[in-house]
Amino acid sequence: MAIFVTGTDTGIGKTLTCSLLLTALKKIGKHPAYFKPVQTGEETDQSTIAKCSPSAFLLDSTYSFPEPAAPSRCLRKHGQTLDLKKIQEDWNRRPSCTWVVEGIGGVLVPLNEKETVVDLIKSLDLSTLVVASTRLGTINHTLLTLEVLQNQGIRIQGIILSGPEDPGLQETLWDFTKIPVIAHIPVLSQINADTIEALASSMFPKPLLQTLFSPETSKNLSERDAQVLWHPFAQHGLPYPLLPVMHARGGELHLEDKSIILDAISSWWVNLHGHSHPQIAKALSRQCHTLEHVLFAGFTHEPAVELAETLTKNSHFSRVFYADNGSTAVECALKMAYQYHRNQGDFHRKKFLALKNSYHGDTFGAMAVGSTPYHWHFKDLCAEVDFVEPEDEEGFLKYTQENRYAAFIFEPLVQAAGGMRLISAAFLNRILMHCRKLGILTIADEIFTGFFRTGKCFATEYLSIPSNILCLSKGLTGGFLPLSAILVSKSIFDAFCSDKMEDAFLHGHSYTANPLACTSSLISWKLLHEEASIKRRKKLEEITKERIHRIQNHFASRIQEARSLGTIGAVELDERRTYFTDPPSVLSQKALAQGVLLRPLGNVLYTVPPYCFSDEQLHRVYDVIESLIPQVTHKGS
Ligand code: PMP
Repeated sequence: MAIFVTGTDTGIGKTLTCSLLLTALKKIGKHPAYFKPVQTGEETDQSTIAKCSPSAFLLDSTYSFPEPAAPSRCLRKHGQTLDLKKIQEDWNRRPSCTWVVEGIGGVLVPLNEKETVVDLIKSLDLSTLVVASTRLGTINHTLLTLEVLQNQGIRIQGIILSGPEDPGLQETLWDFTKIPVIAHIPVLSQINADTIEALASSMFPKPLLQTLFSPETSKNLSERDAQVLWHPFAQHGLPYPLLPVMHARGGELHLEDKSIILDAISSWWVNLHGHSHPQIAKALSRQCHTLEHVLFAGFTHEPAVELAETLTKNSHFSRVFYADNGSTAVECALKMAYQYHRNQGDFHRKKFLALKNSYHGDTFGAMAVGSTPYHWHFKDLCAEVDFVEPEDEEGFLKYTQENRYAAFIFEPLVQAAGGMRLISAAFLNRILMHCRKLGILTIADEIFTGFFRTGKCFATEYLSIPSNILCLSKGLTGGFLPLSAILVSKSIFDAFCSDKMEDAFLHGHSYTANPLACTSSLISWKLLHEEASIKRRKKLEEITKERIHRIQNHFASRIQEARSLGTIGAVELDERRTYFTDPPSVLSQKALAQGVLLRPLGNVLYTVPPYCFSDEQLHRVYDVIESLIPQVTHKGS
């Protein structure tokens, strides 16, 4: 059990608060312990604690500098950088006690070039007490401090005031924050073990300490969930293990039991830069306070326009239509293609063409053009679609002899949910060329492949024949919010423009072009093009290629094939596991037991990591994949 004591400023009474807490804890029979991760100045807070609360166990500071200056300045002077991981390592080695951890100055004191005390608090995963003085200006400083902590999702247990009485201050703080002042430490003429001993219990009586240091009440999310929720792609009649996620950062999911899982599939392929990315979070917070949403029929706003400008820049697409997830993007694209022909007087193109083994979503239009086994209950209710075997150009030509097709829809280069199967650019180019000649519109579904997943920004960049319509979603917002964009070429848009309302595309969702989602997308796009992200992706692509090559060589007799493209790495096991004979849980559970989230697609084990993964994290994922192969295959089978 532990608490982090921070404050509105330096010299505000944090060490005094820590000392009182430690002594009060001792008096109720706890083993108090103190940790000041970063210490600056000759006269250390640790020596004050040693003097004033002699019974407290002291854990050495991870970083300590003699200069009384901001840590980042001391570090620069000593030519060092501060690494939060090192502090975490010290913290993880702590003995079992009741811990009081003291911060450094206020919450936004820089610890290195990128991180502040807030990041330290988050990395230790602690709740906080905020110490504020009663001097003039304190309301402003306290509100600012609390806002920063709350915006970062850090739990604040209470405010502690120190200094002379200030009638009314407590009420004002409560009115604005609804966070209680839990103690008011008076001015002490002397600070020593005796004065602390005399004051400790009245400042922090036993019931208060018990509340502050009680383990967070178990939320027992799984049990509550099991009473009220119905999960996607779940058979609740079979054992259905659930993992309660408390928070997530970068490539890591932090669970209720404090274990950490590596998100090796970018949370169903949406999360590009890692979880809770601070730049996207910050921009979203700003946008929340500016314009959260407005209907998009007859209104517009900056984020929607800027995103459309960004997506169409240097492309042959001239217009963007927004929807709110991958399936609805596909619905829009199919409807657009169908109506495109009708608007031009061609009422005979009532069918669609798609590829076998494709997946385009779960709504009716999307189910119709999908051929994975998930939708078999509904096929009778779906639109008419013919399915061509990938790489079978002749099959395609046979179908198109009787040409009644409005559009051909395809996943460029990778059939994702179908098992991360690769399709050659040469085959797709030939089909796209035939479609162009036959007046069949082409819809590229880049909902999975978009945003550098295959190495290039869009997988259609590997093709030489452009498509008429492009669907984007998933990674579009960097994994923060649902949004999709349907990009169309000028000729498509023009076919809907006339003086008749019936010719318009009469389709729209309540959350079309949601400003928050568009804002996320803009920041995500900017991050994708930053040098650091480009370099990281290149490295992850190299590792993917190397590890997949190794698996192909090493496990040749146990697997059908190992394949990769960009940051996609997949291993097709030599077994007839299907989605129905082996629900994802069996292999997933084995991977989770090793701290990695994988969700195999039938007999295909794969990873599509977030682009923030370190080399070590991606190697760990492949180590787990390698460890699973012999467990679920037989040599030479
Ligand atoms: N198209 C493709 C290629 C996809 O991979 C998916 C989702 N797996 C979809 C469409 C549907 O997207 P959503 O889940 O957002 O409806």
